[in-house]
Amino acid sequence: MGCKCCGRKLNVGMIHKVDVNTGQKFKSCPHCSDANGSEHVFHPYPAAFGKTPARKTARNPEGFQSYCYDCRSLPKGVTSRAHVNGKFCSSLD
Ligand SMILES: [Zn+2]
Ligand SMILES: [Zn+2]
Repeated sequence: MGCKCCGRKLNVGMIHKVDVNTGQKFKSCPHCSDANGSEHVFHPYPAAFGKTPARKTARNPEGFQSYCYDCRSLPKGVTSRAHVNGKFCSSLD
């Protein structure tokens, strides 16, 4: 299923956006977007994600985490709770 705003799959965790008013960077969280069900959900990046050397790859040179902190703390299979605090794809440029 695709995002109703940008059309990309909701499980894409590599979408970066910037709040033009504050300059704050945001990144999509696949698990939060899945919980929303219709568009991507973004959290402040890197603050809400963190980095790990284990995730460093050519495509992810900074080693950032795909899921936000809150989603990573959830047991497997549990729906995101943090998505209600996120920014929607349609509210960011
Ligand atoms: Zn989107
Ligand atoms: Zn999340």
